[in-house]
Amino acid sequence: MRILLVEDDHSVASSSIDGLAALGHSVEHVITGTAALQAAATMDPLDVILLDLGLPDMDGQEVCRRIRASQDTPIIVVSARGDETDRVIALELGADDYLVKPYGMRELSARIRAVVRRSQPTPAAPPTNTVQEVGRLSIDRRSQRVHIDGNEIALTAKEFDVLAYLAEDPGAVRRRTEILEHVWEGHWYGATKTVDAHVAAIRKKLGDSGWIEAVRGVGFRLGFPE
Ligand code: CA
Repeated sequence: MRILLVEDDHSVASSSIDGLAALGHSVEHVITGTAALQAAATMDPLDVILLDLGLPDMDGQEVCRRIRASQDTPIIVVSARGDETDRVIALELGADDYLVKPYGMRELSARIRAVVRRSQPTPAAPPTNTVQEVGRLSIDRRSQRVHIDGNEIALTAKEFDVLAYLAEDPGAVRRRTEILEHVWEGHWYGATKTVDAHVAAIRKKLGDSGWIEAVRGVGFRLGFPE
């Protein structure tokens, strides 16, 4: 795999490079956010980005947001900041996973494999029956597109996943933990407010909060606004 490592701590970087190289990966190492943005835009193919949050020239969260705005390469945020707020922010900016320093090579390697596997398109889905209509809402799981009355709604990948999951059984209540488990595959245990943040963003984009109803103390379900 080709890995972009964004890390300004030389000892962390060199041990990661050695470890990843020993596993057969090719690692491009940069130190600044600016260099990371440049490398992400020009390296092809690039399988995964390991992104430190504390960088000398800009915050890693900003780097994450900018990379995600233009590409889907899996991003694993790597940080000494392990509290829930930082995890949630990284997630909301489009990171695929979050690893707290210090970490072992075995854990890093497992996380890399997991995000790369998740990012690969599932081959099965036949081209028919991929579009689901729920009232005025149309959800195309193959192209990951959502329309309301024929107008496309631009959702992030995770927002799409949350909406598509609720739409699997319109009207059925899904618990926050179920949504986390399904959409984030259990990597964000405890970060249930992440679900609320995504739901809020989806409602805003859909233009009617009635599309996703909160069921007090339980979770969310797909609604049918007028
Ligand atoms: Ca740092």
